[in-house]
Amino acid sequence: MKKLLRKLIGVETTAQKGELAAAEIISAELGRSGIDSRIDSWDGARANITTLVTSAGRKGALLFACHLDVVGAGEASWKYPAFAAVESDGKIHGRGSADMKGGIAAAVTAIGEIADSGTKLGGDIILFGAAGEETDSCGTKRFVRNFGGMPEFVGVVIPEPTDFEIITAHRGMLWLKVTTKGKAAHGSTPQLGVNAIASMKALLGELENYKIAFEPHELLGGCSMSINTITGGKAINVVPDKCDIGIDIRTLPAQNRQAIIADFEKMFAKLKRKNPQFEAQVSIVREVGALETDCRCDFVRDFCSAVGINETCAVGFTTDGPYFASLGAPVVIFGPGKPELAHKPDEYIDISDVEKAVEYYKNIILKFLS
Ligand SMILES: [Zn+2]
Repeated sequence: MKKLLRKLIGVETTAQKGELAAAEIISAELGRSGIDSRIDSWDGARANITTLVTSAGRKGALLFACHLDVVGAGEASWKYPAFAAVESDGKIHGRGSADMKGGIAAAVTAIGEIADSGTKLGGDIILFGAAGEETDSCGTKRFVRNFGGMPEFVGVVIPEPTDFEIITAHRGMLWLKVTTKGKAAHGSTPQLGVNAIASMKALLGELENYKIAFEPHELLGGCSMSINTITGGKAINVVPDKCDIGIDIRTLPAQNRQAIIADFEKMFAKLKRKNPQFEAQVSIVREVGALETDCRCDFVRDFCSAVGINETCAVGFTTDGPYFASLGAPVVIFGPGKPELAHKPDEYIDISDVEKAVEYYKNIILKFLS
């Protein structure tokens, strides 16, 4: 398991470099247990992997849904190089160790050990590794689109780092780009242009007092909004004709994007009444729904008993879970590693946690499929 995890961390599977190398490592590993995988590759090195461990049984399939990609190492300096997978003090360090190559290594090892043991299963196991979860969910969208021909699921396990909490709900994500438009002019004659940055300043003033309406959710709390990027202007001597901001909104299950977008459009109209030269538009960059699995359903109840943990909870981060839920299957997020280490410098995972996860995943497979 440790060797597999170190190999997975060693390949820099950012969206830019692609996920193919990780897919090949998993395929080779499962191949040693006589399990065939299918790698779906596009655009050079982008890749998904799907492994089907078939059985003669009639139970629904259990899907382990992982993501192969990682976010970049970032600007900060790391104690150990981000892709060297250094082992020290019972930990393996590196980008993706917690989010989520530790979970992948555990799921792959559990599946391999069950296959090697010759246990007869009553349903299939599917392992899916997606491209692009950290950027645009391109891999999972592709999987869901080409889904035909797969067996029915009993449930979906997402081995993201939850520090072994059973997560059944998370907020959704709505990323918006708002662009103000102006008219370019020479920097020495600003009166001949319309400054898009000045228009953005007016809009930012409105947004400062704006709160998205929501009914608080019993598990997920409130909706949040944060303006996280801004770009505008091409040169110091040119009046800018365009300025963009990127807004990260985390949504609750009952919210709808039309209402949020309509609020923005009302705001634009108000600013235009004050200043007829004001022009703005809003577009959706990315949207992932909220996840809300019924914690009283059979799958969650049996899942809790398989791992011996009785509590379920909600988290603030988002996963590809809602895409799998759209296939009609209950989704649970459960895996090794501390979620607060994800996307940060000096990310690591405790080796003992990955070992524990292997045992948990084997128990889960046996609970649902034997
Ligand atoms: Zn993740």
